Amino acid sequence: MNHLVLKHIYKKYSNGADAPYAVKDLSLEIPEGSFVGILGPSGCGKSTTLRMVAGLEEITAGDLEIAGKKCNHVPSKDRGVGLAFEEYALYPPLTVYDNIAFCLRAKKVPKAEVDQRVRAIAATMKVEELLKEKVGGLSGGQKQRVNIARALVRNPKILLLDEPLSHLDQKMRQILRREIKKLHNEIKCTTILVTHDQMEALSLADYIAVMDQGVLKQFGTPKEIYNEP
Ligand code: ADP
Ligand code: ADP
Repeated sequence: MNHLVLKHIYKKYSNGADAPYAVKDLSLEIPEGSFVGILGPSGCGKSTTLRMVAGLEEITAGDLEIAGKKCNHVPSKDRGVGLAFEEYALYPPLTVYDNIAFCLRAKKVPKAEVDQRVRAIAATMKVEELLKEKVGGLSGGQKQRVNIARALVRNPKILLLDEPLSHLDQKMRQILRREIKKLHNEIKCTTILVTHDQMEALSLADYIAVMDQGVLKQFGTPKEIYNEP
């Protein structure tokens, strides 16, 4: 079953008649539990696409369906998405525990359940030793693990990752890439990852969407895309 369907999606940021579209006529069908990499050069519309799926950006035209329901105007918090985006920066003065627990507490989840969920996801993301540390003192890789843990603690149906490895060194990138792969194999949460790194998309994704200047150029398995004659 397709979990996420984009139908002829367009995005224009300004209302000006001559403003270019950031995304043009984008259609995608994403099966439940799959891992999709959106790949393309800077400025091609990757983040815009992800933000429309997340409900952080209005869709100018077209339809977005999640689990068979049109949700163009469904608020982000009701879409069942977990976001690891740069704009959802962690709070440096707070501990790792408090950062992960933040949205559960905001929703008045009972304390014992918050504790259980924070510890479980911290173990999955291998940050359980860091729970008492202040986020401000962590390395880049540790911060990204916490960031993903914070997105996952909401038990999202869809996990959205915007360049989660981009500020890391080569070694850390490789390690975290393996972790993300392992995580996806374990929880099988429909995942979309935006990257400009071909290697990253290739090693992680079941399907790759290649974008250029707001347009979807290719969609297929890594094999279909890279073994083309
Ligand atoms: P990518 O993620 O592939 O780098 P973006 O989705 O960020 O691309 O950007 C696609 C296009 O939309 C670019 O031309 C960019 O300048 C423009 N854009 C992105 N965000 C905004 C915004 N908030 N307001 C106006 N234009 C934007
Ligand atoms: P609520 O869950 O009540 O909406 P939050 O402050 O926890 O309140 O979330 C604000 C919005 O940010 C929600 O719309 C949610 O979809 C989105 N969101 C998703 N993942 C995260 C995240 N990791 N950090 C912050 N906000 C997120």
